[in-house]
Amino acid sequence: MSQKQLAIYGKGGIGKSSTASNVAAAMGETGKKVMLIGCDPKSDSSITLLNGKRIPTIMDTMRKKGEIKEEDVIFEGFMGVKCAEVGGPEPGVGCAGRGIIVAVQTLQKISSSLKEADVVIFDVPGDIVCGGFAVPITKGMVREAYIITSGEYMPLYAANNICRGLKTLNTPLSGIICNEREASGEKEIVESFAGKLGVPMLAYIPRRKLVQDCEREGRSVIEGSPGSEMANIYRGLAGRILTEKDKKVPDSLDDEDLRKLTRI
Ligand code: SF4
Repeated sequence: MSQKQLAIYGKGGIGKSSTASNVAAAMGETGKKVMLIGCDPKSDSSITLLNGKRIPTIMDTMRKKGEIKEEDVIFEGFMGVKCAEVGGPEPGVGCAGRGIIVAVQTLQKISSSLKEADVVIFDVPGDIVCGGFAVPITKGMVREAYIITSGEYMPLYAANNICRGLKTLNTPLSGIICNEREASGEKEIVESFAGKLGVPMLAYIPRRKLVQDCEREGRSVIEGSPGSEMANIYRGLAGRILTEKDKKVPDSLDDEDLRKLTRI
């Protein structure tokens, strides 16, 4: 089977990292070799796979040490998931994608983990003014995209912008993930958004305290509460991502249509 290379996008604070790490854990549970690469200025994509441990980022380690070794920046977490964090830009300077290019080239040089993985998940900022959005795609490191949103206007607005970016890059979207924020009519709104884009809504993740409780303990839900409803929801999502075939380069909505949608 060829390697699955995907990116999960979405507005900051929408639950992207907790979804990415739970999906990675659930895929790991099925025996897949998974690598999670966080490209988030907060560098916490992998924290719940590593018992709450924050790992050194590739950019920081390079700044400090120059030469780096595999064990400096790749850490094996729950269910064997290999974790690496790109690290953030310098405040006020940014990096316009340089961080992730350098990080991936370095990973390829110092480790075989990237090559050996069955699934590579990029947890990338959905803020498309940051070069981090386009780079994994333009460098051929990502072949499919997933967007996480809630039914509120701002995350949908960001999601719609991401679709615009995907269209420009001619990159397919494989599905929308709804992370509940208790907006009224949320499920219908996100389903309808996905429908207009021509892709499925792959999961509806209800808002549960359990997710934050597990995060506080430095665990994914798959690890912290494996028999829970939430763990099964993440397993279901991981299964859909592994088998999803309905990719489509999305046509974004115009702003008026998007506003109408949130007034359901
Ligand atoms: S591209 Fe963006 S997210 Fe990636 S390292 Fe640079 S600033 Fe951070």
